[in-house]
Amino acid sequence: MLERMSSRADASKDAFRLLPSIEELLHDPRLAALAPRVPRDVWLGFLRELIERWRAEIKAGKLDATTLSARLAGTALADELRRAVEREGRAGIVRVVNATGVVLHTGLGRAPLHAEAAAAMANVAGSYCVLEVDRESGERNQRDDRLSELLRRMTGAEAGIVVNNCAAAVYLLLNTYLARGKRDEVIVSRGELVEIGGSFRVPDVMERAGVVLREVGTTNRTRIADYRAAAGERTSLLMKVHTSNFRVEGFTEEVTPRELAELGRELSLPTAFDLGSGLIEGDDVAALPDVMGDEPRVRDAVASGVDVVCFSGDKLFGGPQSGMLVGKRAAIASLRKNPVYRALRLDKVTIAGLERTLELYLAGRGDEVPSRAMLRASADQLRPSAERIAAALAQLPRCTVSVIPERSQPGSGAAPGVFLPTYAVRLTHESWKPAALAAALRRAEPAVFARVQDDALLLDPRSLLPGDEDLLLKALRSVLA
Ligand SMILES: *Cc1c(COP(=O)(O)O)cnc(C)c1O
Repeated sequence: MLERMSSRADASKDAFRLLPSIEELLHDPRLAALAPRVPRDVWLGFLRELIERWRAEIKAGKLDATTLSARLAGTALADELRRAVEREGRAGIVRVVNATGVVLHTGLGRAPLHAEAAAAMANVAGSYCVLEVDRESGERNQRDDRLSELLRRMTGAEAGIVVNNCAAAVYLLLNTYLARGKRDEVIVSRGELVEIGGSFRVPDVMERAGVVLREVGTTNRTRIADYRAAAGERTSLLMKVHTSNFRVEGFTEEVTPRELAELGRELSLPTAFDLGSGLIEGDDVAALPDVMGDEPRVRDAVASGVDVVCFSGDKLFGGPQSGMLVGKRAAIASLRKNPVYRALRLDKVTIAGLERTLELYLAGRGDEVPSRAMLRASADQLRPSAERIAAALAQLPRCTVSVIPERSQPGSGAAPGVFLPTYAVRLTHESWKPAALAAALRRAEPAVFARVQDDALLLDPRSLLPGDEDLLLKALRSVLA
């Protein structure tokens, strides 16, 4: 026993002695071509990490002198460092092909913008622009004067203001009403205290905004009488939150925004409705498929009379990341006066994209917004794309390909429980496991994100943009051909 232990200690001592120094690696001719591909301190970091990793392996008894000298003599050293250099080259935000079928995929940047909106953003990004000055008078103005006007026209509200995202909108809202004297309570239905995407929990945002949460009703039933009974001296706001990403089925009752607005007027208390997604439909904008079900519409929410309605810019609206607040003039003015607004306001690039997207809606071109077009596409409209992809993939060796009826999801917690009928390409390969193939596609050039389901790779054409079919095939060929 003792003998075995000491021989193991000897073995690891030998292995430790074999570990190269940074200096040795810096002069290793086999690595000479790799080093210049990254900045010098990044390269030094890779060398240090590698040596530390091997040292830890020796310590744990997982690496002996024989294996280590094999690694040093063979290609293992250069291979590991090449992988690190390649990972570095792939890091950061790059364009990907979204073949998951999830249209508003938060992980993939939510809504792809209309080409005109994207062009407007690129245009102001690299130049000066009219941001806080009036072109006619030369006087200073507000950066979102035009946005506010466009929002007013689109939603029927008296005024609007825009911040970084809908979470920021909720924060600004709560923080503003909190500032009114000793009133620090917000009344919300217990059934609406939702968590969105794991990081936005309504109760947490409220707490951070400095608000005391007053929950009323039960998870499945809340009546206006519950709000009335809870309202008192400390109430600052009556609030309703759309339960974007879950649905309570069965025996349910919720307060309508109209009831809330009426109670607010009766008690002289402000009211707000956080819509989350913000479905835009109107005279010029065709309805999304009725599968969107009971997703509340922005115009209806505004017309209900609540003081402030907020919604996301990059969910069903299909614009850049932003959070819109629209409603009564006085309410929006008090949001603007809150110094916190300064910390949450938009930059010129986002404003440019948002203005252009709003103008498209107002020009009756809302259906051109890419995410809306994707959500509206029927299974029959998507089938030819699936067939084309399948036909091309069938040419690749050792692949089995078919087109199957499937379901896509809107994503981003928009319309929970809603599935859009689609046709997907189902791909299996003789040697690639689906998860490994999906991983290789993520690292391919261009990168492709697909679904892994029922032991196969699924490619759903719903979330493909024009031109993506070719990119998708290029990536698949680079991995499989
Ligand atoms: C998505 C959502 C939010 C957060 O919106 P972001 O724009 O992602 O910050 C807030 N409230 C509701 C009801 C939502 O659905």
